[in-house]
Amino acid sequence: MSNNAGKHNVMQKTLRQAITYVGVGLHSGRKLSMTVRPGEADSGVYFLRKDVAAGEGLIAARWYNVVPSELSTVIRNEHGVTVATVEHLLAALRGCGVDNAVVELDGPEVPIMDGSSEPFVSMIERVGTVSQDAPRKAIWIQKPLAVRDGDKFAILMPDTISRITVAIEFDHQAIGAQTMSVALVNEAFRRDVARARTFGFAEQVENLKSQGLILGGSLRNAVLVDGDRIVNEEGLRYDNEFVRHKVLDCLGDLSLAGVQIIGHLYAYKPGHQLNTAVVKEVFEQRDAWSYLAVDELDMLLGRGEIPAAPSDSSEANDLLAGKG
Ligand SMILES: [Zn+2]
Repeated sequence: MSNNAGKHNVMQKTLRQAITYVGVGLHSGRKLSMTVRPGEADSGVYFLRKDVAAGEGLIAARWYNVVPSELSTVIRNEHGVTVATVEHLLAALRGCGVDNAVVELDGPEVPIMDGSSEPFVSMIERVGTVSQDAPRKAIWIQKPLAVRDGDKFAILMPDTISRITVAIEFDHQAIGAQTMSVALVNEAFRRDVARARTFGFAEQVENLKSQGLILGGSLRNAVLVDGDRIVNEEGLRYDNEFVRHKVLDCLGDLSLAGVQIIGHLYAYKPGHQLNTAVVKEVFEQRDAWSYLAVDELDMLLGRGEIPAAPSDSSEANDLLAGKG
């Protein structure tokens, strides 16, 4: 643990250096190159399409730019330029505490990689992050918010940390009913969520491909479910990989708020439309939350700068003496 570990979490962070990924787009089937660069403090996450006219390619990763779409999260700017499948990268950035970044792309979609956030997370961890000279801000939920879409619903409730609970129910016996609750602190995202892959159903593949979707989909970047059977030879990464992937999607979609949300999202049968509807509802219910710096929130909650579980007593004593 570094000496400024306590301060680290209350300051904004960006990448120490740029990271380049090359991969296929899940829906377009195109080969894509993506470079994630450090971003300015207070800028949040922006996408920049390098393959469109100069000055027209910048798209803020924000809720007000979301285009209705169920199979992936798509954002669009005022020039009609879009980027699809942003959610797994956004989950990795939020899960690794990266507040600010510019994501350059040479096509219309974030590469799907292995269908999870793990390839993004491992590279972010390899290059590392740096603290910036600006306090991290948060939306602190103080009154419950709810959205409903048929039999799907989501409630965002007051909490002292960021927490996501998802419940899903599928007729396919390979999935069935699954529930998972994750407190997004410390290593929980990396350990419990980041490796969970997206999934699809054998009976839908032909229909989606005929609509020009999932053209890049394969057993290398998705779990394929056929009735009660997992088609992938390697099987699942977690017993309940499906609900964990839904938690991952929720985290990525919630990050479209632009800052961390301190609260507990309970989502029943969530999809991208439901998740992004939650974020829209947050901004429509301005009296339901406070916008404040994370260190202000820590003081309000009486937790100051005490980091979790110091690894030895001398560090603990340093922290108690105010040197942390
Ligand atoms: Zn997903």
